[in-house]
Amino acid sequence: MKTLSDIGLVGLAVMGENLILNMASKGFTVTAFNRSYEKVEKFLAGRAAGKTIRGAKDIPELVASLAKPRKVMLMVKAGQPVDDFIEQLIPHLEEGDIIIDGGNTHYPDSNRRTAYLKGKGLHYIGTGVSGGEEGALTGPSIMPGGAPEAWEHVQEIFQNISAKVTDSNTGETVPCCDWVGEDGAGHFVKMVHNGIEYGDMQLICEAYHIMHDVVGLNSDEIADVFEQWSKTELDSYLVDITIDICRYKDTDGTPLVEKILDTAGQKGTGKWTGVTALELGIPLTLIAESVFSRCISAQKDARVAASSILSGPEKVAFTGDKTVFLESLRQALLMAKMISYAQGYDLMQEAAKEFGWHLNYGGIAMMWRGGCIIRSAFLDNIKAAYDNNPELNNLLLDPYFSKTVQDAQGGLRQVIGQAVTVGIPVPCLSAALNYFDSFRTARLPANLLQAQRDYFGAHTYERLDGPRGEFHHTNWTGR
Ligand code: NAP
Repeated sequence: MKTLSDIGLVGLAVMGENLILNMASKGFTVTAFNRSYEKVEKFLAGRAAGKTIRGAKDIPELVASLAKPRKVMLMVKAGQPVDDFIEQLIPHLEEGDIIIDGGNTHYPDSNRRTAYLKGKGLHYIGTGVSGGEEGALTGPSIMPGGAPEAWEHVQEIFQNISAKVTDSNTGETVPCCDWVGEDGAGHFVKMVHNGIEYGDMQLICEAYHIMHDVVGLNSDEIADVFEQWSKTELDSYLVDITIDICRYKDTDGTPLVEKILDTAGQKGTGKWTGVTALELGIPLTLIAESVFSRCISAQKDARVAASSILSGPEKVAFTGDKTVFLESLRQALLMAKMISYAQGYDLMQEAAKEFGWHLNYGGIAMMWRGGCIIRSAFLDNIKAAYDNNPELNNLLLDPYFSKTVQDAQGGLRQVIGQAVTVGIPVPCLSAALNYFDSFRTARLPANLLQAQRDYFGAHTYERLDGPRGEFHHTNWTGR
């Protein structure tokens, strides 16, 4: 074990312990610290025994054990505990030392802390860590942002412990960790990742619902369809787990998934993404609908009561060509997923403008390519799109994406039409198509909207036949 540790880690719960073990397995020496010291003792005597891990009784001992510039990573409960540890660390650190927060922090907190610590001569990194307990141990996706000067000091550790993937564009092995951008950019990107996760999950659920209630497939048949799709551009971790779930049988031999209460929980990161999109004025419609879908699912009692009062179309047996319809559904899912990522990237691009960040868009796709819930083959295409054109305004304008959505839109329209006809809700598939149709429409009815605003509130309008920026008001009633 080295005399001085490469890094200190505070917070010996599941994530912290596993990250330390991951670092030690890659040859780094780590000092472990926790608010309650018993956990340090237990860890050293148990899982950390015989590894390049030492413990510290208090903050001064932790700091004294670290090589300079000192790096202290916090893996504690997000919120006040992070601020409390920062305050405890500051008096013991020197100029150029680095504090890293790897928790599920909301990005404005990381913006604030980066600026605060800069004022004290210290560097701050707020990093998204995805992949849960197992990822932390075997290779998470790591999304670091904050003080750019700090990156060169943590790069070796973070890229060593992160997941690795092969970039199918270049054949290179790349770590699922790269510098994201300034201030809270790392936590912002992790938040968007979580929002995209909400959208991907809801889209798969809508496809499942259509296969079950429109086409009349059973759970095993649905698993077979998802299995075929997993051999296409839809190959992803979430599709893979859906296959296992649909095949899983309860003790009585029937599919367990059909016995699970249909009310979805949420921890709030999808909501953060939606709220941020509203704040920044970005049409992140698909992810927002995925959050609302969880909300309406949670209104189980009200839905059960409404189901006996409000009726929809009569249920009819599917009479079309199943193979053709299922191919349309596959295309619908692919197109909707592309639109969701285009919206997520639009949000990140707007945040970069708003906060003055220089985001690594292609790198972000590779950070999500492995070690996290939204890992999928399709992310290579996003990386390629931003490699080809780093200034790309909207993912749908990239030649590969624009061709794929052009080709898939017939499928999406057919599926939504069928679902609407039989009364099956498809909020995210519909959000995708509405975004596509709005985005590709040169003239929307906002001319009337501007007239209405001017009528009741004298909010003024610009004219098509006049210069942009020249505002007019009309006395619409002549009174
Ligand atoms: P956690 O349950 O979120 O937090 C437990 C740790 O925080 C313990 O070390 C605890 O110390 C410390 N702590 C709690 N309240 C504190 C306070 N008021 N002051 C000082 N320390 C306090 O642990 P976790 O699940 O390992 O997660 C760590 C961070 O990673 C969180 O931000 C979490 O959201 C994020 N994260 C978790 C996952 C996951 O799958 N679990 C995935 C990605 C990110 P004591 O032992 O003394 O109580």
